Amino acid sequence: MWLRNDLRASDNTALYRATKSCDALAVLYIACPSTWASHGDGDNVVAMRLRSLRKLQATLHKKNIPLYFLEVPAFGDVDSALAQIAQKLQLDALFANAEYPVNELARDQTVKDTLGKLDVAVEYFTDRTLIPPGSLTTGSGDGFKVFTPFKRAFISTHSNSAEAFGCLPTPRALPADHLEQWPEWIALDGEHNLVRSIPDTVGGYGVADGGEERVLKWPVGEAAGARTLKKFAEVIDEYDEWRDFPARENTSRLSPYLNCGTVSIRQCVQLAAEHNDGRLDGPSKGATTWISELLWREFYQHLVVNFPRVCRNKPFKPETEAVPWSDREEDFARWCEGQTGVPIVDAAMRQLNQTGWMHNRLRMVVASFLTKNLLTDWRKGEQYFMRQLVDADFAANNGGWQWAASTGTDAAPYFRVFNPYSQSKRFDPDGEFIRSYIPELAEVAERDIHCPPQDLFSEHSYPPPMCDVTESRKIAIEAFANLKK
Ligand SMILES: Cc1cc2nc3c(=O)[nH]c(=O)nc-3n(C[C@H](O)[C@H](O)[C@H](O)COP(=O)(O)OP(=O)(O)OC[C@H]3O[C@@H](n4cnc5c(N)ncnc54)[C@H](O)[C@@H]3O)c2cc1C
Repeated sequence: MWLRNDLRASDNTALYRATKSCDALAVLYIACPSTWASHGDGDNVVAMRLRSLRKLQATLHKKNIPLYFLEVPAFGDVDSALAQIAQKLQLDALFANAEYPVNELARDQTVKDTLGKLDVAVEYFTDRTLIPPGSLTTGSGDGFKVFTPFKRAFISTHSNSAEAFGCLPTPRALPADHLEQWPEWIALDGEHNLVRSIPDTVGGYGVADGGEERVLKWPVGEAAGARTLKKFAEVIDEYDEWRDFPARENTSRLSPYLNCGTVSIRQCVQLAAEHNDGRLDGPSKGATTWISELLWREFYQHLVVNFPRVCRNKPFKPETEAVPWSDREEDFARWCEGQTGVPIVDAAMRQLNQTGWMHNRLRMVVASFLTKNLLTDWRKGEQYFMRQLVDADFAANNGGWQWAASTGTDAAPYFRVFNPYSQSKRFDPDGEFIRSYIPELAEVAERDIHCPPQDLFSEHSYPPPMCDVTESRKIAIEAFANLKK
């Protein structure tokens, strides 16, 4: 079984099917640091991935299943490495869970073709999503471009029931002597060998951190994911009411786990369904709203398959390629550092820089500020998020950025620009979140915290706002309106 971003033993379709159908089983992980770098993956997401892999290795070991690690430079090297492995280990079959961005799909097709020639059957399973991307279409047979009809069709196709998304049993342990049947390591052509240990650095990405099991503030592994899910169960019924308030812990914070696969999407749906009479849209407003967010995730995963041009650094709406982005380097640097002088934006960016995560409401606020008020190309923000986020996921990140920049499908209309000050007053009314990330403003009164008056700036060594949000909003709207003309 070939592992990718599905780093768990429980409810893992490919692993379960492999343990069911094979007498002997090895699990493989192939790191491709050059490809990761070209995809813009940052240290946080890679550390989360590789440390989770270490945890899984220990779990599989207890089940007498070996986990082999291999590092090759790029996706393009994977098929020849797997062909050698297949021959040396005399594999009959290879099982994996499908991945959907274009480069991953191309890699997987090449592997299937190459191993097919060696009579090794390759099977990819639906596991990262609830249903196969591409399988849910509009009346005219196209992929959905708009979320609400997608959600409606999804729910009605499944008779508003979560039953189809049951979790699989944890795979059985293999006999005690099974481990001994497998070699400790295998020499492959070139400098990289298949080994049973996961190194501390992989292609320049750090994995170990003094033996600490944390990526910044995030505990890693399947047990940590399960604990996070359990904790969220206590507040899921209030999710609709409080999910937009960043000072509160009312969202699940499961995204880092869902992304590297230490929690499955079905485990999330089952938890919500338990609070919702088994339904997708049911009596608990909190659980129903949460399922809707899980379906946004599903929607964006389907989008990359239905409209692969979004994977090629292109806007979904081709005409928005002509937006005259101003791209001032200094503006971008101040936004990255959380020094724009707009407290809610700066607190959010500092949350990202310090924890590797940002609250969803704030992701929308900072993305709108960068792309509209600073008229900076959304792709710069997208890349910065990829580099910082511990939950960096191409489909969700690209979807979120194109939504905020009004370049995407079902995006925010270009004339609806978030006002960061109103967002701040509404969702952080007493400034608790701002104060927790901007110590310079800790003593500022509640009435001034969202937009500190000029004379406070020098006193608190906090910069004045770098732009007038009303003026810059007008300029952005005009730039987009000119595209139409
Ligand atoms: C500009 C921008 C960039 C984003 N980048 C990413 C990213 O790289 N990785 C990522 O996982 N999410 C991304 N999101 C979506 C969302 O912000 C995060 O999934 C969410 O904040 C994670 O927190 P949570 O787990 O507490 O979410 P919850 O509110 O508890 O939601 C549960 C799960 O649903 C999914 N989800 C929720 N909202 C969205 C959404 N709008 N789009 C897609 N999936 C969603 C996530 O998997 C999340 O873990 C981005 C959103 C924006 C606006």
